[in-house]
Amino acid sequence: MAAFVAMPLLAREGAATSSLPVDVTPLADLKRRRLVVYDNLKDLEFEYQAGKLAAQDYQSLKQNYLGEAATLMAASQEAEQLKEIDALLEREIAGRRASRKNRLPQDYICPKCGFENPVPVKFCGECGAKITLLSH
Ligand SMILES: [Zn+2]
Repeated sequence: MAAFVAMPLLAREGAATSSLPVDVTPLADLKRRRLVVYDNLKDLEFEYQAGKLAAQDYQSLKQNYLGEAATLMAASQEAEQLKEIDALLEREIAGRRASRKNRLPQDYICPKCGFENPVPVKFCGECGAKITLLSH
């Protein structure tokens, strides 16, 4: 995660984005910076087509931007995965809280492996064995 924090702040060059409210989540920030890189690439292409850039400069700048885009892409995929794991853990924790509050947990203990299923289930979440509920 440290890689993209240390990256040169090319995003700051985008004049259009500076007046917009900044979304502070890492994922939104990465996405915003990626869009800026794409904008820069488009500008670069335009300037090259207009004859304002030497082919050599164009190529080296383009490689820079593409490298930047690839790094940002990889970083946001990583952030996306972390977000999914967070969401998964939150659901798991919420499920456990709900089961503690409203259910008798022993209703969902697997007879085969002893796993305490956090939510009402017909089959064990750990080993797949059928759970026979105790009568209420
Ligand atoms: Zn089980």
